Amino acid sequence: MRLFDTHAHYDARQFDSDRDQVLSALPGQGVELVVNPGCDLNSSRKAVELAGSYPFLYAAVGVHPEDCADWSDGDVEELRALAAKPKVVAIGEIGLDYYWPENPPRELQKRAFWAQLVLARELDLPVIVHDREAHGDSMDIVREFPGVRGVFHCFSGSAEMARELVKLGWMISFTGVLTYKNARKAAEAVQAVPLDRIMIETDSPYMAPVPHRGMRNQSGYVAHVCERLAELKGITPEECSRVTLENGRRFFCIPG
Ligand SMILES: [Zn+2]
Repeated sequence: MRLFDTHAHYDARQFDSDRDQVLSALPGQGVELVVNPGCDLNSSRKAVELAGSYPFLYAAVGVHPEDCADWSDGDVEELRALAAKPKVVAIGEIGLDYYWPENPPRELQKRAFWAQLVLARELDLPVIVHDREAHGDSMDIVREFPGVRGVFHCFSGSAEMARELVKLGWMISFTGVLTYKNARKAAEAVQAVPLDRIMIETDSPYMAPVPHRGMRNQSGYVAHVCERLAELKGITPEECSRVTLENGRRFFCIPG
C-alpha cells in the first residue's frame, strides 16, 4: 500500500527521544506522505523545520483551540510569515474544543478560529479543523467562509453533519477511532461520505488504532485505518490507499 497520513504531530515531545528513527522508518512502511500540523506558534515553527528535513513530510501552521489561551490577533502576522515557508500546505490545526472545562474560553477560541479562517481565505490555503464537542458552533463559523476549502480532522460528528460538510465542499478525515469496537457513529459517517471526499490520518502520537490501541501512535499504523475504511466501503485496502492518497494530494495541492 502507498499511504498518506494526513495528520500527525512529530513535533510532539512524545517523539523527543527517537524522532529521527521513527520518521526515517516511515517510507519503509509504505508511508509516502505525511502532513504535520502545528498546535501553536512554536510547534508550527517546528513543523516547518521538520518538513525541511524529510522529503515526504509537509507542514501546516496554526493555533489549536486548546492552545489559544495567549491568542492575540497579532499572531496572524507570525502565521502569515510561517505560511510563506516552503512545504507549508495548510492552515491548521484550528477550530473549537469544548470538551475540557479548563480549555480557553469559548469566545477566545472562536476569535482565534475566525481570524485564522480569514488568513486562509487571504492566502488561498486549505484549513485543518479540530472540532470536539463543538459541532454547532464549528458549522456556523465555517458556513461564514464559503470560499475556504477544509477538512474536519478526526471526525466525530454525525452522518448528517458529514453530509452537510460534503455539500459545502469539505473533506472528512478519519483516524484509528474507526478501528475501535464502539465506533458505530464514525462508521455511519463513513457511509455518508463519498470516497473521493475522505482522507485518513493517525493523529500521532494519539489515537493509535487497534491492535496498537493505547500505545504511542505513528504514521505506519495508518495502514490499519485504511484497512478498516476499505472494509466499510467494500473495496480492497490497495484501492482505498490509492484513492485516499490521491484525495490528500489534491486537497493539499501536493504534485504527484
Ligand atoms: Zn491533531
